[in-house]
Amino acid sequence: MQSAADVETMLLGPVLADRACGDCTACCTVLTVDTPDFSKPAETPCVHLGAHGCGIHAERPAICRSWFCGWRRVVDLPDEARPDRSGLLVSLNFVRATRNCFEGVSINVRTVTAGQAIDKRIAAIILDALCVQLVPVWFSDGAKKMLMHPDNDVASLVISGEAAPAHLEKEVAAWRARYGVFAGNG
Ligand code: SF4
Ligand code: SF4
Repeated sequence: MQSAADVETMLLGPVLADRACGDCTACCTVLTVDTPDFSKPAETPCVHLGAHGCGIHAERPAICRSWFCGWRRVVDLPDEARPDRSGLLVSLNFVRATRNCFEGVSINVRTVTAGQAIDKRIAAIILDALCVQLVPVWFSDGAKKMLMHPDNDVASLVISGEAAPAHLEKEVAAWRARYGVFAGNG
């Protein structure tokens, strides 16, 4: 069975040797962690996070050693897309109780600081780099979550099962072939 890290490598790419977290600690606050040896709630700084980063770096939990955000993996994301610079954190999301077939496994782009103005230019660069394969991409700003890829018209056809017009036939068929397994969920 594939681990989450294997799926991340398959869909986002391997961890890139020339990318470093530097001063970024976004994931230590933004993410939910729920593993047998360590857990923390979302949008809450980890209890080990201090002014100079992780206070238990040498002994940090296994998940913190093995997990890397999308910026550490996606080769087409520029330096300015690092979460502490862009205010946007890219990660692969796994949802068990899905509302539709695009939620099970997807790329999530979320704002790091609630209420922070989004730099539309860097957001567009990040989305352009991510919306290129048969993997759904969501954008969430804390208040709401929007499906960015595939487009709304394609998503509606995939979910409804209705016949697609000629110009969308191939794209809709490709998404259905990949995500048909989740179709019972929405
Ligand atoms: S969000 Fe990404 S770049 Fe920032 S600390 Fe986490 S893994 Fe490193
Ligand atoms: S243990 Fe360290 S690396 Fe892990 S979430 Fe907490 S501060 Fe971050």
